[in-house]
Amino acid sequence: VVVGIVMWRQPPQHREWKGAGTTAHFYEIILGRCYTYTQIVRPELGHKDCQKIGKAFTNAFLSKDPCSSTEQDYQPLMELTNQTVPCDKTLLWSKTNELVHEYAWVQREFFTLENTLLGYMADGLRWCGDPGSPEMNYQSCPDRRTDCSNNSVSVFWNTVSKRFAEDACGVVHVLLNGSVHNSFDERSTFARVEVFNLHPEKVHTLQAWVMQDIRNISSDSCSDASIKNLKLILSKRNITFTCENNYRPIRFLQCVKYPEHSSCRSKI
Ligand code: NAD
Repeated sequence: VVVGIVMWRQPPQHREWKGAGTTAHFYEIILGRCYTYTQIVRPELGHKDCQKIGKAFTNAFLSKDPCSSTEQDYQPLMELTNQTVPCDKTLLWSKTNELVHEYAWVQREFFTLENTLLGYMADGLRWCGDPGSPEMNYQSCPDRRTDCSNNSVSVFWNTVSKRFAEDACGVVHVLLNGSVHNSFDERSTFARVEVFNLHPEKVHTLQAWVMQDIRNISSDSCSDASIKNLKLILSKRNITFTCENNYRPIRFLQCVKYPEHSSCRSKI
């Protein structure tokens, strides 16, 4: 009598986290974005090895605890994706995700982090692994508020934002939101990471453009307490701060969306 041993293939068992899981087709998306960026968006980076970059990205988090992610995990990926941004062309942002990218789309010489290879690849995606499995966890990933702050996605953004700021030179621009409670929010990546990693030997000025919601224009945002705090932090770091309310070129972008608004109807 032959006794067959039935082996049940169990679906991978992952821990349950509070956040949404890895974006479906994560690997194909980052690989496709890498090729789009290096072949079409910036063909001068056509020599970058997207296969190697894709592997370095997933190796940074697969088979690891997604709550103990470190900057070191992402070092091989960082080394493969170095890129120079011209002086005066770094554009930082906080709470202005849509508007800043509309502006960068028109003013092609400006680089937000999402206009660099690594930011372009990762923007809007989620990912995490699991120490007990070589696969991605598509069921759930740590939520940065309720599970852990050192999760694979947050550590990635902290690491790439840090490098982006360290590499900046000349005048750095930042697009802030004048229609939220704290335009300069101390908990944001801009405040925690980018401001502190600008090198005063290379960056002489931070110029802020503070844009208000066109439907809700109020007083002078540049004199708000949170912006004054930013000015103080920068003066201690020997970086000059300048601030402009409702910068006209960006106001025009807002007017594209609300052409009938009173502040858009006046003569140009
Ligand atoms: P913000 O508060 O508007 O956040 C921007 C986006 O990043 C949001 O989708 C937010 O959920 C996410 N984010 C912020 N901090 C995060 C963290 N610790 N972990 C995971 N996601 C996080 O503005 P911000 O925090 O000042 O970040 C914007 C600045 O930092 C930009 O200058 C950019 O260079 C960089 N950044 C970009 C992204 C991105 O998703 N493209 C994320 C973080 C940081």
